Amino acid sequence: MSRVYKHISQLLTLEGARKKKGRHPLEKDLGIWEDACIVVDKAQKVLWLGATSALPETYHRFPSQSCEGETWFPAPVECHTHLVFAGSREKEYGMRCAGQSYLQIAEKGGGILSTVKATRKALPEDLLRLAVNRIESFASNGVSAVEIKSGYGLTLESEIRMLEVIREAQRRTTVQLVPTFLPAHAVPPEFKGKDDDYVEEICHVWIPEIAERQLATFFDAFVEKGYFNIKQTEKMVLAAKDAGLRVKLHVDQFNAFGGAELAVRMEAVSADHLDATSDAAVQALAKSDTVAVLAPAASLFTGTSYPPARKLIDAGARVALTTDFNPGTSPTTNLGLVATIAASQMKMTLPEALVALTYGAAAAVGLEDEFGSITIGKRLRCARIQAPHYEAWAYGFGSVSPEPLGNH
Ligand SMILES: [Zn+2]
Repeated sequence: MSRVYKHISQLLTLEGARKKKGRHPLEKDLGIWEDACIVVDKAQKVLWLGATSALPETYHRFPSQSCEGETWFPAPVECHTHLVFAGSREKEYGMRCAGQSYLQIAEKGGGILSTVKATRKALPEDLLRLAVNRIESFASNGVSAVEIKSGYGLTLESEIRMLEVIREAQRRTTVQLVPTFLPAHAVPPEFKGKDDDYVEEICHVWIPEIAERQLATFFDAFVEKGYFNIKQTEKMVLAAKDAGLRVKLHVDQFNAFGGAELAVRMEAVSADHLDATSDAAVQALAKSDTVAVLAPAASLFTGTSYPPARKLIDAGARVALTTDFNPGTSPTTNLGLVATIAASQMKMTLPEALVALTYGAAAAVGLEDEFGSITIGKRLRCARIQAPHYEAWAYGFGSVSPEPLGNH
């Protein structure tokens, strides 16, 4: 049975933002209808939308509901997470806040390799339970799709186990999951001092195996000093593309040495982090379709510098926002909080933040045809907040949780 939702205080379709592929988003690109109405069929396909006063006669006989005081917008998408892991890192945060360096923390058994150790040891059922809980935490914030990376196994067997956990989690949630293979997250202890050998192993053994098992949509690597260099990453990306995987890259987080430019050259779907990126890289991103994925909550949490959101947007780059949910630098699932931080710390306008968390994030995981806008003829993937204006989400400072609608 079709259903009519009337008198929605604001309905945001993001029609204009979609047409501009998310570049230079202005308030008029949000496609705001006041006192709006939307009609969906029983499969949640949008049949009609517009002003309540203009509802066509033919829909008057359908059951209707008044939604006064509510704002509806495309459901947020979370485009960058590391949510399959065991163990905890809160003690490390205490050490960090007490002034200890990353190296000192790593020497005391903290850091990313401590999560690798705990994740390798964990039972698959425990990893699955933890992952599903975290996905549900995103869902309770209105999120309709979540990208999830491997990268805390770093042996072929444990990376496969992580990706199988994501596949199993997909059977238990209505949230759309996007699996990413991230073997080049760090050099595992087994390959210490032999990083070129590790890269060869990834290219010739791991990537073909993951592609054969159809366990991932994307390939990802951490391009950073002390992790993986441009030459190694290029090799892995070519192998991944050969195997049919799409590409995302962690680039320019601490040092800019051509990571973002490589992402553009390799036609990566997204280039993530960019905290230290150069002006030349900003221009390269702006001329490309590669989405710049920014994680200001991680900067806030660790007290480091913010990515140059203003420069990227003003140059015409496509921008997305993420929590970067992970146990070391950003243990939050709250995208509303990310919107507030993006606005106050990176000087993004609220329309820019909203587009980056919906359409932009959908584009960063290749889902912009189905997610990130509300269009007649397409399935409704939408969230609502109990407030008459969209600004309330970012204004809420993490306290306003969009409620998912039409995802089931
Ligand atoms: Zn990451």
